[in-house]
Parts: sequence; C-alpha cells; structure tokens
Amino acid sequence: MVNEERLVQLFIKLVENDSVSGREEKVGDFLKQYFRQRNLQVEEDNAGEVLQGSSGNLLVKIAGTVDKPPLLFAAHMDTVKPGEGIKAIVGNDRIIRSQGDTILGSDDKSAIAALLEAWEIIQERQLSHPPLEFLFTVSEEQGLMGAKQFDFSRLQSKIAYVLDDNNDPGTIVIKSPCQNEIEYIVQGRAAHAGMNPEEGINAIHLAAMALAKMPCGRIDDETTCNFGTIEGGLARNIVAPECRIRGEARSRSRKKLDSITSSLKDSFINEIEKLGGRAEVKIDFLYPEIALQPEEEVVQRALRAARKLGLEPMLAATGGGSDASIINGAGIRCVNLGVGMKNVHTTEEYISIDDLVMDVRLILAIIEEST
Ligand SMILES: [Zn+2]
Repeated sequence: MVNEERLVQLFIKLVENDSVSGREEKVGDFLKQYFRQRNLQVEEDNAGEVLQGSSGNLLVKIAGTVDKPPLLFAAHMDTVKPGEGIKAIVGNDRIIRSQGDTILGSDDKSAIAALLEAWEIIQERQLSHPPLEFLFTVSEEQGLMGAKQFDFSRLQSKIAYVLDDNNDPGTIVIKSPCQNEIEYIVQGRAAHAGMNPEEGINAIHLAAMALAKMPCGRIDDETTCNFGTIEGGLARNIVAPECRIRGEARSRSRKKLDSITSSLKDSFINEIEKLGGRAEVKIDFLYPEIALQPEEEVVQRALRAARKLGLEPMLAATGGGSDASIINGAGIRCVNLGVGMKNVHTTEEYISIDDLVMDVRLILAIIEEST
C-alpha cells in the first residue's frame, strides 16, 4: 500500500532541504507548498519572530470524514549540526545515510516524510479518518523552543502522537522526566592574591567547598542531577570575585524534582553564606514529565495499531525531553513513537527504508484505530 519510491524521494527531498535549528524556512516552504497543492491551509505562528528564527511552527488542520475525536501528529522540522549540504545516499542494503560529512536528518524528517506519505495514501484510497491536526515545530533541538512557543489552545485534539524517538517502530514512550536547569552564581570579593589575600573572598574556592556537599549523579531510579560547566575568576593573581556553575536535575516524578531542586538551592546558599560569601541560584523549568499509564487510550491505541502490523510493541521510559513533553504539559495525552532513526546527532546517522515504510503503516493503523 505504501508507495516506497515516492516515500524515499519525499524523504530525500526533505533531508536535502537543510534546516538546522532556527533556519527551517526551506522545509517550512516545502510543507506550505505541499499542503497548498492539496488544498489544505498551513497556519504559521510567530515562533520564528520570537525565537529570531526563519520559520514559525506550522499547523495543518484537516477535516474528518467520520465524526470522531480529532487526532494530533507532531514532528520537528529542525536538525542539529553539521546539517548543511546534506546529500542522502540510498545503499544497496536499503539503508539511507548521509555522505559522511553531515548528519542525515532522519531526526526528524523520517517522521515528516511518513506523515506526508500517509496523507497521500489516505487521499488515494479514500480512507476514512477523524479530524487530523499535523504540527511541525521549529527549534526542537534547541530545548523544545518551538513547541514551548506554540499556543496549544489552537488545537482540538486531546490525544497526540509525536514521532521522534530513535527506537524501532513499535516503541511507545510513555514515561520521560521533567527537568530543571540550575545555575549557581557565587559572589566573593576581589583582592590581590599576593599582597592582601585577606581582603578577598575567593568565589571559586567557596563554590568548590559548597559544591562538594551537594549530591551529584544518580539520586534514585528516576532522579538524576549533574553539574555540567563551571567558570569564574579574572586572573591567576586575583582572588576570584565570581564563580558560576551550571547544572540540571531531572526526575520522572515532579515531586522528586521539586524536592531535589529546592534542596540543591537552599543547602548551596546556606553553605556559601556559612563561608562568608553570597550565592544566587537561578532555576529554570525546562519541560514537564510524561507519566502515562499503559491502560490509557492514547497508549492502547498505539499498542493495537502496532500489533495489527505484526510488531511486538514495547512501552518505554526515556531520560530526555521531546516535543511530547511539552504537548503533555499542555494537557494533551501524548506518547512519543519510535521511528527507527539510528545514530542520531552524528554523521553516522541512518534509517532503513523498511522502518520508513513501517512508520507510514503505523500512522495509518493509528488513524484506522481512531475511526
Ligand atoms: Zn528529534
């Protein structure tokens, strides 16, 4: 049923339209033209302006042929670097790779290609479907920035499928963590290191002593924290007046995230003050958790669809965020589906034609399960 040649050509066209985060206009224009030719309207929001990028998030709303609740599918248009001048090579082994000097961009253009091919098939075969909403986001790789700008009140769907997990088709991500970014800013006092160190307060030394008392690494089976960068000081011979440490905490439980974050904040400030310095702690909530139960309809529908195709579906938990995190946070029940892209974010990235085809079939099966 899937037109493999058309699907592969579509995928190649999408990946060869470069779209590193913030520069998604070529893919955006391609999608606008694609849907316009099919008499569908593409609504672009102002995320491009807000994020100083070249495209906004794109939303396509398609009326249903049956009176059933609407369904949202989402994929991101942007890629990581090196993502300029991508050339896709189709191997005799039915694997699509880049030339080796760039990423491929199957993350997440495999999902976009699969959605478009699914729509072609629905049209050709006059398949019945509920109202459909397709959301194509920008700057996902920049910390889900596009999805965060999107106004979800524009959507009718209460159930959604993001196609952006690098496991094989049949994987259904139902749990992922929420995350806080944590920044420590320690203020000391500058002084000459040799002449009068007594008059200084060394912010680097203070930060090190306080940091040594903080938890770091795995906290429990669903909670982690990390300190990733440290910077500060002016010169070797100056008592360091300032030190900044950037870190994060994640947990699949919001309660645990809140609790570890407030303890990382309060005890750090406490330690620094005990040592005679001052500390400021900035907390930035990056994205909410996904915490779905297997029996929920959004999960069950994906399970039924996968089984129908002979896949052995797997419910999964991941350690990172995706647009599905933001969509769940907006009150829409949303899983992230495995699409089979491999070695993403590297020049070794690839996807098999068989997985691309399976992605289309999975989308169609989910739609069928929704009618
Ligand atoms: Zn992705």
